[in-house]
Order: sequence, then C-alpha cells, then structure tokens
Amino acid sequence: MQPPICEICFKRFDPDMEGDLVFFKETEKGREFDRRVREENISGHPPDAVWYCGEHVWEAKMLKHITADEARTILKRRFEASLISAFDGRPREKNLRS
Ligand SMILES: [Zn+2]
Repeated sequence: MQPPICEICFKRFDPDMEGDLVFFKETEKGREFDRRVREENISGHPPDAVWYCGEHVWEAKMLKHITADEARTILKRRFEASLISAFDGRPREKNLRS
C-alpha cells in the first residue's frame, strides 16, 4: 500500500484525521491484482485506489463511477489553477482581492 499522499496536491496526511483511499471503477489491472491477492497472497497498492487529502477527497468520491485514470485527468484539470498559484508562491488572498 502506498503512503497517504494526496494525488492532487501531494500533501502527506494522516488518514485517521482527514482524506481517504478512494476506490474507482474496477479495471482489468485491478481485477488481476485482486485475483493475485486472493490466490498468490501478494501485497501492494490496489491499482484502482488513490489517496486524496481532506481538501480533495469529496471531489474524487464524486468520480468513483469512472476509472482512476479518467478521474485523475478530470481532477488535475479542475484543480490546476489553484495549484499553479500555490506553486509560484503568490499569496492566495491576492486572488480574492483582485
Ligand atoms: Zn489534496
């Protein structure tokens, strides 16, 4: 299992406090993983499951009916604007004032 780091903002968080592991629509890869967990007792991170922090988990959960890859594309596009302003160091309140 991967450590809980949000796929959108890369924040490391404590899943007991916030955020969650979201299981998306099962893919061929996910089915194969499940089969190997049952039959071969492998461990690892389920391919259809993705960690999201408290800020992003609800948006992610609304996309559970599609695959993790499709959800990743949509969520990254949706949150891109806020991530860019966070990365270039501009204070967030500047966006509110203008
Ligand atoms: Zn996040």
